[in-house]
This record gives sequence, structure tokens and C-alpha cells, in this order.
Amino acid sequence: MKNQTEKFKLTFWGGAGFVTGVNFMLEGVGKKILVDIGSFTKHEDNDKPLPYNPSEIDFLFVSHAQMEHMGRIPKLIKEGFKGTIYSTQETKFLSELMLTDCLGACGFSFEEEEVKQIMSLWKTISYGEIIDLNDGLTVKMYDAGHILGSSFFDFSYNNNSLIFANSVGSSFTKELSGIEENKKIKYLVIESVYGDKIHKLTDSVQEYVEDIIETTIKREGNVLIPVSSIDKIYLLLREIYSLMGSGKIPKIPVFVDSLLVEKSIGIYEKIFKCEEYGSCNSLGNFVNNFEGLKFVKNGDDLGKIEGPKIIIGGVGVSDKKKIDTYVEKYISDPNSSIIIPDYQIIGSLGRKLQEEEDFIVINEKKMPINIQIETIDGYSSHADHNHLFKFVDDLKDGLEKVFVVIGEEKSSEFLMNKLRDYLGVNSTAPKRGESFELEF
Ligand SMILES: [Zn+2]
Repeated sequence: MKNQTEKFKLTFWGGAGFVTGVNFMLEGVGKKILVDIGSFTKHEDNDKPLPYNPSEIDFLFVSHAQMEHMGRIPKLIKEGFKGTIYSTQETKFLSELMLTDCLGACGFSFEEEEVKQIMSLWKTISYGEIIDLNDGLTVKMYDAGHILGSSFFDFSYNNNSLIFANSVGSSFTKELSGIEENKKIKYLVIESVYGDKIHKLTDSVQEYVEDIIETTIKREGNVLIPVSSIDKIYLLLREIYSLMGSGKIPKIPVFVDSLLVEKSIGIYEKIFKCEEYGSCNSLGNFVNNFEGLKFVKNGDDLGKIEGPKIIIGGVGVSDKKKIDTYVEKYISDPNSSIIIPDYQIIGSLGRKLQEEEDFIVINEKKMPINIQIETIDGYSSHADHNHLFKFVDDLKDGLEKVFVVIGEEKSSEFLMNKLRDYLGVNSTAPKRGESFELEF
């Protein structure tokens, strides 16, 4: 322990006041550290030069493999970053898949060579492992319980901690994360995607999904499920598999149109072990035993297959285009349904479907919306308001400031006020570009 306090600077370059482009910078003890560098929804925002000199950055920590958290890594490299990238092994693997999927399709161009260069700078660490960054500044990772490989980063100096909780899982508990009981955290950065919302109970969600699928099948319609993360696809497949297995819904064909899911099955099989699930169907088994489940590739024409079917996809950039084509195909069919199972970013097709009333423009065509649109958030991999509140409550001893980020403005502000009013915690919802001085 050092006697003198050390000043650090924390800047929110993206993911503050909105959910995309997550990019935070911590400066201190002669080091410049980035936590996440995600892409924005609007290509113009991704094209803007970075507001700092990437060649001066020593480390980049990646919280999890979603484009909003790692999509601008190629840009960082192009603009001169030569430091070290750290994440879990799973995040590295999935990020490589996603960046490769993104080649030539993410609004800003980068080559396969650059993806290779990125991977050569990328080191993996495990939950609980501590690494020394410089002069006693250490970092440790905890399991965020969000998507596969997601982590919190705990930067510690002089026995004071700053935790970045850039994603908090929906069934997250402090114990499961590995955060020690007596851990004193002085500063906390916390996401707020669902900062102002409460999830429905999972049991009622299952019944709801059963209901939607059942009535759609009765109408001889098709069920479309656009999903934003690979985990979500597996989660939904398990659900459908068990609904079919127990005879609650008829066994109709299920199509997954996602290159990323196909490519990632191996890693999921390895990681999700039998004992982690009550049903004891390891992921590989369940996928292999799933009668009627088919992975389809670009160009396959599902329209030729008669009768009701379930179509799931939409994870990567390449997937999203395909999902648009499916939506275009079924949007005007009143017998079909679309299930939107998670948070939809402003401007995304899912969000438009939730908000538009009569018409929508897809692939430059104006189409009447006749399809049944059903939104459920019980499958969200994000903690809801109650969960986030409890998380901060568990950690509040010694907490000097909470930065509420990665949420739409009203969502972040709602959580910020609640933390302030009910827990008496000094909390703020920083604006993009805002900096704070921290004392360690
Ligand atoms: Zn996420």
C-alpha cells in the first residue's frame, strides 16, 4: 500500500447517454487504458476520427463480444494502436468471428490482415486472475453473467477499486461473479440498458412464447425471431426444444440462419457443461438431438418449404441482412408472427417494428405491417432495474461515486436518481466526452 494518493482521470468517449459506441478511458500512473471500443449505429459516427491518439494507448480491455463494445477495434488499430488487448478467451474467440463476419459490411472498411493483426495483440486472461499493469495498478476480471465470456474489470490501486460493469447479467449475483464479500469498491461504472424497466417473470415468458407459437401454427403462419446475440439464439432454441419435447407445441421445422451460430457451436459445446443445466442436455447434445432443426445458408429458399416454421437469426452483420429479407417476406402476412426477444437499439429494424404502426420501409420498399408483433424482454441477458439496484446496494459500503452509463438517457437518469434517493449513493449519468478526476 502506498501512502500518497494518486489521481486518475476517467473519460466517457461513447456509451454515455446511449447504448452504442461504448468507449471509456482511464488514465493514471503513466498509463492510458481503454475499456471497450464499440461501434455506433450510425456509420457517420464510426467514421469520425477517435478523440485521442491511439498510439498512446497502452491497453484495451474488452468486456464482451458485441459490436457495441468491440466494433471499432479495427479503427483503433488503423489509427495507430500498438498496445495489448485483454479479454476472456471466449470474448476473443467470438470477437474474431464477429469481426471476420463484418469484413466489408460494417460501414467502415478493414481487411482480413487487420483482423489478424488485432488477434496478434490480443491476450486472454481468466476470471479471478490478477495482472499488474504498472506501478501497483492491477486489474482483475469477474464474471458479468451477461453473454458468454462477459466480464467486469476491477482496476485497483492503493487498495481502492474502480469496477467497470459494462454489462450486468439478468440473473447476476455478486456471489456468482466472484466478487469477494469484503471487497471495497470506491468507484463503479455501471450499465443501464434496462435502468428504468422491470423484466417479466421467466415462467410467464415461457407460457407467452408457447402461446405465440401455438396460435401462429394454428393460423398456418410462420414465426420469425430476430435475435441480437449468439447466446440468445441458444437460449431460445433450448426453450423451443423443451416445448416441443414436452408436447406443448407441435414439432414443426426450426431454421437457424446464422453463420456465426454455426461457427460457434464448437466453443459453446465445450463451455456449457452438462451439470450447469438441470435438464442435463449439454448444448452439443441438445443441438444434435433437435429433430427438425436445420442450419440454413445464405440463398436457401425457405419459402419453398410448406407449412408453418420457425426462423431464427440476426446476430451478425451478415445475419441482419438475411433477417431483413425474411421480415420483408412475411411482414404483410397477418397469419405470421414476429417475436422480438430483447432490447432493440434505436434505429434498428426491431425497434422500428415496435414503433411503426402501419408501414415500414425494408430494403427500400414500403411494406404494410400485417404480421403480429410480439415483444418480450424476459429473455434479456441484461439485468433489469431491480437487479441493477440490488447490485449497487450490495456494493454500496465505501462507494464514493457511481457512473451510470450504457443506457438511453431516460433509463440512465432514472437509475441514477433511484441510487441517489434510495441508497444515498453519489451517482451521475455522464455525457459523451465528460471527464472525472478519481482519487486512489
Ligand atoms: Zn451486451
